[in-house]
Amino acid sequence: MSATIKHLWALDAPTVTMDNGIMGLLKGGEQITFPLPAFLIEHPEHGLLIFDTGIGGAGDPASVYGPAAELYKIDFPAEYALDRQLADLGFTTADVTRVVLSHAHFDHTGGLHHFAGATGYIGSGELRYAHTPDQHVAMHFDPRDLEAAKQIDWLEIPTHGEHDVYGDGSVVVLSLPGHTPGSLALKVRMPDDTNLVLTGDVAHDHDNVTFCAGMPADADTVGAIESLKSLKLLRSQPNTTVWVNHDPEDWAKNRPTGRQVV
Ligand SMILES: [Zn+2]
Repeated sequence: MSATIKHLWALDAPTVTMDNGIMGLLKGGEQITFPLPAFLIEHPEHGLLIFDTGIGGAGDPASVYGPAAELYKIDFPAEYALDRQLADLGFTTADVTRVVLSHAHFDHTGGLHHFAGATGYIGSGELRYAHTPDQHVAMHFDPRDLEAAKQIDWLEIPTHGEHDVYGDGSVVVLSLPGHTPGSLALKVRMPDDTNLVLTGDVAHDHDNVTFCAGMPADADTVGAIESLKSLKLLRSQPNTTVWVNHDPEDWAKNRPTGRQVV
């Protein structure tokens, strides 16, 4: 039997509002508001790990994103800043010794600057791709965050591989490429011995998983479909919850009492 984590917080997250065509192929025409999350995990012996870091610009998103902040109705109260939430929970940013980055799109890298000196886990080739992306996805990478990423000591997860972070089965990084070349998900063993899979952006809503259909900003459409098949298989396993991180319904369902999940 695997060890379990001690706590998981789905930290209070900024939201954006835009056309749902962003979420999946064959969608569009409806405005949706969805979260840009960061998940904090406490291991009973090895301390804190963060999975993704959301966007930057807490309290004043326009200071970072300019007119896009208003265009996409970014809602990011100052007290949602990662350092402030960590302090609120009795921690400092330096207590977070490990960072797992699902991928390098800007809505996941905005808080990386808080974690200089941490050990990072990233998909093989992701940072290289982020610096020289294909043109149709270039706007999803933020050079300021890539600069901040240089302060983290990255370990690369081989493509289609997995890595048991603590060697006890409690937190396992899964390489599921396609959305980006190095896209990752995280499998967490919860205190009640169930599995929780945090999808990163391998899927953007549950329809992506159900129909194994990707989204417009996938770097590799064919690869993304294969990874969605893997997620669908995980979702079919007993005692396993797949939490699609940008899916607003999952956000409401999986954090009924706010940021502390367990
Ligand atoms: Zn995203």
